[in-house]
Amino acid sequence: MEKRRITGVVSELIYNNLKTKQMKTFELEITETCTVCKKEIIREEGGCGTGYAIDNNGNKICYACCGEADKKTLLETGKLSGYYSHLVFTNWPGSFKIKAYYSRDSWHNFAGRNGRTDFWLNFEGKHYHGVHIGHDNECATIRLLKK
Ligand SMILES: [Zn+2]
Repeated sequence: MEKRRITGVVSELIYNNLKTKQMKTFELEITETCTVCKKEIIREEGGCGTGYAIDNNGNKICYACCGEADKKTLLETGKLSGYYSHLVFTNWPGSFKIKAYYSRDSWHNFAGRNGRTDFWLNFEGKHYHGVHIGHDNECATIRLLKK
């Protein structure tokens, strides 16, 4: 497999396991090419994550394009499944994020005390409502609020 040394500012879109952007030298493996943007998909050696997602047709899509696709899904269908943690809703690779402006914990029949979190978000002028259930996962779905 081809390897390449790169020094630069690490994009948190690609290396979402790193918390901050920083200058660093990485040995990178060029693994695949993104089906959408045709850019090389690269990942840090020994890093976690593949650097890409696979869509329903088996195409490899880089995290940045996943973010674009998820944004499109949300705007077209008014619904998106992802993850919720600390007032932030994200898609799977974390390349699409919306901050919630309000959240409320309540009792859930199965998950118990504070087992259900309702949260509200504003994205491009529209309001969305999200629900997260349980304590041992971050899965959540948001839906467009009808006026
Ligand atoms: Zn891409």
